[in-house]
Amino acid sequence: MSLDENINDEITFNKICPKCGVANPDNEANCIICDKDLLETVLYLEDAFFDLEITETEFVEYRKNYYRTRRTGKIKRFKLKKMEEISLGQPIKRINFIYDGKTETYPLKDENYDLLKDFMVKNGYITP
Ligand SMILES: [Zn+2]
Repeated sequence: MSLDENINDEITFNKICPKCGVANPDNEANCIICDKDLLETVLYLEDAFFDLEITETEFVEYRKNYYRTRRTGKIKRFKLKKMEEISLGQPIKRINFIYDGKTETYPLKDENYDLLKDFMVKNGYITP
């Protein structure tokens, strides 16, 4: 391949892998580094204390360290169907739900709150 061809390809890397954080080409179905199925990700939210991945069936938290600079490696998975009493609260934007009898709370950035609320309403998990 010549250098010109390379430039003309104009591949953009906008698809962030929720699992390993690497930017993938937009048309990639599986992560080029860790092979995660990128098509299962419905929503990917980068927040202050964690990153959240929402799939058709799961709510996944990738915890970040105290300084918010990288992930700790701690991952929590919740089955969407098993999440009870889901509520999105104001004025401090957050999502609350009960899972296995335990209350879980995730504070969210404004834009992430809006995207997550949208998803929860569209899929019938909460009423607007
Ligand atoms: Zn990956």
